[in-house]
Formats: sequence, C-alpha cells, structure tokens
Amino acid sequence: TANESNTEQRWEGFFPNTKVIAIGSGKGGVGKSTVTANLAFTLANMGYKVGVIDADIYGFSLPRIMGMTEQPELIDGKSINPPEKNGVKMVSMGSFVNEEQPLAWRGPVLHGILEQFFRDVNWGELDYLLLDMPPGTGDVALTVFQQLPKAYFVLVTTPQATAYNVSIRLGLLAAQTKKDNIGVIENMAYFICDKCSEKHYIFGDTKDAVKNMADKLGIPVLGSIPLRTEIRSLSDSGTPVVLENEEIAEDYKTIANNMLE
Ligand code: ADP
Repeated sequence: TANESNTEQRWEGFFPNTKVIAIGSGKGGVGKSTVTANLAFTLANMGYKVGVIDADIYGFSLPRIMGMTEQPELIDGKSINPPEKNGVKMVSMGSFVNEEQPLAWRGPVLHGILEQFFRDVNWGELDYLLLDMPPGTGDVALTVFQQLPKAYFVLVTTPQATAYNVSIRLGLLAAQTKKDNIGVIENMAYFICDKCSEKHYIFGDTKDAVKNMADKLGIPVLGSIPLRTEIRSLSDSGTPVVLENEEIAEDYKTIANNMLE
C-alpha cells in the first residue's frame, strides 16, 4: 500500500538498529546544542557508538561547540566520512560552509540536505544517533516527527516562563505521536554561588516551574543541569565539558540513564 512504501522511505529506515534521539527546544539560546553535544559525549563515554546530525541547518553551532571543525572527507563525490572525536561522529552544515556565509534555502532544500545527512554519510554501525533540531515548530521539526516517528524526543528548556511557555507548543506537538518516548531536560536550572554555596534560581520564578510544565504535558523530567561558567567557557573552546568536569558528567549520566530506561 501507499502507506507501506512511505514507511520504507522514512529516514529511520536507514538506521534499523539505531536509536534516534531528537533534541528540540521552543526557542533558541536555552542550551539545546550544548545539551546535544554533552549527551553525545556522555553516551560515547558509556561505551556506545554515537553519531550526531546538526539539523539546525541555518543556525548550526555544533562544529564549534564540539570542537569538530575539520572538513568531512568526500568519498568518490558520493558519500562523506564524518569527522570523529572521543567516539562521536558528527555532520553539520557548518562542516561545508564558513560561519559567516548566509544561507537562504526554503523548505524542500532543507529537507534534501537533512536527508543527505541520513543517507550519504558513512556512519557505520551506530547505537545512538542524536539530532540537534532547530528551535521551534517550523519545517524541520515537522519533517523530523514525520520521518522519524520512532525517535525519542528530548525537549530542552530553562525554568524561565518565556522559554517553557513556547516549549509547551513543541512538547504538545511531539507528545501527540511520542507516547512514552519523550522527556524534558531542564537547563540552567540554578546557579550555585561559590561564596555562599546556596542554589540561586536565576531563571525560575519557582523552582518547580519545569516540573509543572512537564506534568502538564504528562511527560517526565529527565534531569536538571545547573548554570555553570565552565559549561559556557569549555563549550566556547570546543572542549567536551563532560570529559573535563566530574560533577557535570554525573548530571549528564543521570539524564542518559533516565532516557535509556
Ligand atoms: P541553543 O542551542 O538552545 O540555541 P546553546 O547550546 O547554543 O543554545 O547555548 C547558548 C549559550 O548558553 C552558549 O553560549 C552555551 O555555552 C551557554 N550554555 C548552555 N547551557 C549552559 C549552562 N548549563 N551553563 C552555562 N552556560 C550554558
């Protein structure tokens, strides 16, 4: 039937033995790409084979955050070998254009580029394929939900009302198809002052804001990452934070385990 041939053409058909994890957020700047990079390095550190697709075609930032700025190797003009670091392979539009180059493509071109990232990259065997989605409920989000119906969906938000209110929309869209295959990560949850050692809830009016949002959506909170200078500074220099800082590594391991449960 038409339905069956559709299913065969879906992108997840390229990865029959791989768990795909799509990571999205309602708006930009909440740390979605940082979370994607650190989850990838965490899973690789746990012994899994991990790939990452930077699906934020216009707003790519993974090559810089992951410190993987080398050009992928082109094989016979047909397929590419992705760069690899600490057991993580990654492709991004940023591997092919320079950071200042303006990109002005409409939906079908975006769709085509993403499909190539699934089809024409020599990923080898992967246990996990992480997808860093662009923020919001635009074209790419809809395509991802359609093409990857079995993917686990991670919603990243900060405890700030302007962030979690827009993420509810994406969460509702995802929850329609995801059932139990979905969870929330709270980023920049609090800041621990190095003078008084108290937790300061900088972005949250209440410390339960994200929990309340997740309850409303009927989905679990996988864990919380505090606001920490090291996360920003190590990310800026392309150093995998979870391989440098024990405490942050523990936070991410908890999240990975909750997600894999
Ligand atoms: P998004 O992908 O949602 O647009 P990014 O991952 O690019 O967001 O993060 C935005 C900025 O916030 C980056 O400079 C990043 O280093 C910083 N950042 C992300 N998470 C944290 C955190 N937990 N603590 C400190 N800085 C963070």
